[in-house]
Amino acid sequence: MDGHRLQGIGMTSRRTRERLAARLGDAGIRDVHVLNIIRQIPRHLFVDEALASRAYEDTALPIGHGQTISQPFVVARMTEILIRNGMPGRVLEVGTGSGYQAAVLSALVEHVHTIERIRALHERSRRLFRQLGISNIRQRLGDGHAGWPAAAPFDAIVLTAAPPAIPQVLFEQLGEGGKLLAPVGNGEAQELRVYHRDGDALVEEAVEPVSFVPMLGGTE
Ligand code: SAM
Repeated sequence: MDGHRLQGIGMTSRRTRERLAARLGDAGIRDVHVLNIIRQIPRHLFVDEALASRAYEDTALPIGHGQTISQPFVVARMTEILIRNGMPGRVLEVGTGSGYQAAVLSALVEHVHTIERIRALHERSRRLFRQLGISNIRQRLGDGHAGWPAAAPFDAIVLTAAPPAIPQVLFEQLGEGGKLLAPVGNGEAQELRVYHRDGDALVEEAVEPVSFVPMLGGTE
């Protein structure tokens, strides 16, 4: 798996990305595909220029509008879980944000669909994907509570904002054998959970405590 040939990366140091990948490896990320993609994706382009020098720290950073780009460890961990039993062909992400998680996924899976409720973030990530030559991400401005029925079923669905409970309609858009990965909970104390679809049954697995921004309704 070579990922994309990313365009327009510029002169940023490959070494800083190498260091980040090494740190994530030390922190417990084992999947070589995931670590390779972290080495390739120019995270500094997904944050404001003023924060670019901090882009390869293993930390969440503000992206405006009260939102954040997730911590690289969390992105890597979630990606690792999503591809654990084979690469999903079609993935739905709720919460495009900066676009970083979608870009990581797009290097590993065939099609990524991603929904964002804040127009400015939706448009910014669209420009960035174009700049980087990423062509397998479809985007929608909207409320991810409804999922993307016209593009369903998905092999995997990932939420990068936390609902108090998973909207039932998202489970309905999960294909047979598919998995849904989401932070679930109110406030800052949430739990990362994986749900596996097995026929009509959903098997739930708790992964670890996490802290995501809340999943909100409507658009702005
Ligand atoms: N995946 C993002 C990244 O790589 O930068 C992380 C984004 S941030 C932690 C979560 C995002 O979810 C925010 O941009 C927020 O606006 C968005 N969001 C929250 N509720 C949403 C909803 N109902 N539908 C779509 N997006 C939503």
